[in-house]
Amino acid sequence: MSINENHLLHHSASLRVGLIGDPVAHSLSPQFQQAALDALGIAARYELWQTPAEQLLERVRSLCDKNCLGANVTIPHKRAVLPLLDKIDPLAEQIGAVNTIVHRDDYLYGYNTDAPGLLHALQEQGIGKIGPNGQISLKGYTVVLLGAGGAARGAAFALTGAGIERLIILNRHLERAQLLAADVQQHYDGPIFSLNDPAFLIPHASAIIINATSLGMHEDASMLPTEVLARFNPDTFVYDMIYNPSQTYLLCQARAIGLRTANGLSMLLHQGALAFTLWTGKPAPLDVMRAALE
Ligand code: NAP
Repeated sequence: MSINENHLLHHSASLRVGLIGDPVAHSLSPQFQQAALDALGIAARYELWQTPAEQLLERVRSLCDKNCLGANVTIPHKRAVLPLLDKIDPLAEQIGAVNTIVHRDDYLYGYNTDAPGLLHALQEQGIGKIGPNGQISLKGYTVVLLGAGGAARGAAFALTGAGIERLIILNRHLERAQLLAADVQQHYDGPIFSLNDPAFLIPHASAIIINATSLGMHEDASMLPTEVLARFNPDTFVYDMIYNPSQTYLLCQARAIGLRTANGLSMLLHQGALAFTLWTGKPAPLDVMRAALE
């Protein structure tokens, strides 16, 4: 039995878990996390914990309360919480960002479930294989990663960790792509290319194109001209981490030329499901969570 399962059984008072960030009001996490807690009969509330930077230390300390399971962490605190925790999972350490905190045995543990959440989101589209140990392998795939910010960094470590054939990072500011490439290369033997001009993209078989920029959230624009996208094989999969709007310009471009696509809602779902299991020690009710997001 996991420590947190023990926690769940021996507390009659309502447990708490929540989202630490600034802002948090727009978040979809309460609706699908609460649905999951309720479906499993866990007497816990998922709360929104609006936390400006000057209150972060106090907020993290409050997670040590005996009725607190832990927290999710979002913008702008994913990096800043690291030194405030007792132990950091190796993947979160590599990425340098924590999005899930677990309160276990009076200690606070930091994890990154955004990165594996992306792998699960790809896997449910038939991309990659699950090994006997439950790990997702992306052997043979070439990934074109658009962006070099926080989300791209998590994706780059997760994708290379899953054994992709090569990584191509395309970012508006080339030096950020190069810095990310250099960090990832320390843990990865395959080739990594950094670009800032999509015209130099060479199509590869079994390609996955992932948008990890915010371009497309507020404008009808994408990093890739349609003629560049059209060079890729018809089996290319295009994933946009953005889920609002649900159809970004990039996804419309890709669909118009017949490529398979998905938006970032599945990544949100899977990072949440992985966090749920870390807090509760129980398999996440994915169908319930997915339905709550619709
Ligand atoms: P970030 O750290 O601020 O990075 C932003 C990235 O977008 C950088 O690569 C930046 O390029 C690029 N960018 C911004 N405006 C651009 C423009 N006008 N033209 C070209 N590139 C532009 O942000 P983040 O935390 O990585 O988040 C990126 C996106 O991922 C957001 O839309 C976020 O909502 C999404 N996301 C989704 C999930 C999910 O669960 N689905 C999880 C995390 C993030 P420069 O480096 O050149 O400035």
